[in-house]
Amino acid sequence: MKEALENLEREALSEIQGAEKKEEFLDIRTRYLGRKGLLTGILRKLKEIPSEDRPAMGDLSNRIKNRISREIEAALELCEAKVRDEGLLRDAIDVTLPGRSVTRGKLHPISQTMKEICAIFGALGFSVMEGPEVELDYYNFEALNIPKDHPARDMQDTFYIAGDTVLRTHTSPVQVRTMEKHRPPVRILSPGKVYRPDSDISHTPMFHQVEGLLVDRGISFGDLKGVLGYFLRDIFGDNRKVRFRPSFFPFTEPSAEVDIECVICGGEGCRICGQSGWLEILGCGMVDPAVYLNVGYDPEEYTGFAFGLGVERIAMLKYGITDIRLFFENDKRFLDQF
Ligand SMILES: [Zn+2]
Repeated sequence: MKEALENLEREALSEIQGAEKKEEFLDIRTRYLGRKGLLTGILRKLKEIPSEDRPAMGDLSNRIKNRISREIEAALELCEAKVRDEGLLRDAIDVTLPGRSVTRGKLHPISQTMKEICAIFGALGFSVMEGPEVELDYYNFEALNIPKDHPARDMQDTFYIAGDTVLRTHTSPVQVRTMEKHRPPVRILSPGKVYRPDSDISHTPMFHQVEGLLVDRGISFGDLKGVLGYFLRDIFGDNRKVRFRPSFFPFTEPSAEVDIECVICGGEGCRICGQSGWLEILGCGMVDPAVYLNVGYDPEEYTGFAFGLGVERIAMLKYGITDIRLFFENDKRFLDQF
């Protein structure tokens, strides 16, 4: 029996030596040590040997069983380590591969244009103020000399939220709110989104405006012309002709619209400028005394001017874009060009 056990041990160990895979080791364990395995088979014959020899055989078989178990455990652990190493090797980073480039985000052309406009006026000492897009009728209209039922309201189609609340149709309410809080001198820009129910090739229900306001003692129309002329030459180039045309706005008196020499045809006349050679670029004027009274300024003491321009229009002219809707379609092929 001793010989049978020792043979079994030798064979098992040599099989373990020869095996490689996890499944093979598990199979060896079952075949030798399992409930119906070879070792059990030998031990069944234990009752056939003299009883004084049995304890020694029991010991021997235990030792053999433990030895085979240990060897298989160790082999299985090695197997797992090997699998782990192979995984690490497979997932390893090849530092010699060229990197994948990450596309860099950039500012939307409208944001770029808005920043540029603010920077030009910023250099002249204008500071940026912001206000709510959902605005009270009072700030959007009444404080700006546009009472209810006034025909001037027809100039600006309006989204009404509820009774006295509107989506602002211009950023002028910011000017009123600023004047309520600050005494002159006031020199501010109010950039932001505005809303009007309009939609075609040159209008979108939401668009961007930058408005400016300068109020102090002794401000004249000459200051207005100087500031806006400086701005237009800075943004469209030095040699562009600029002209002021009389116009009407309820909150300024006198009012003017400003044209620049067509940036497409240089004044020759083309489709974009309607053959006139001029492009309408912004509205402006001297602040109406009625507005000063609404915010508690003395119109005898202070004068000032205001202006407003559409950011989309400036960007379209600057970059030669013919359809305003391109700005809002988020087509990367379009946006990547800026
Ligand atoms: Zn033209």
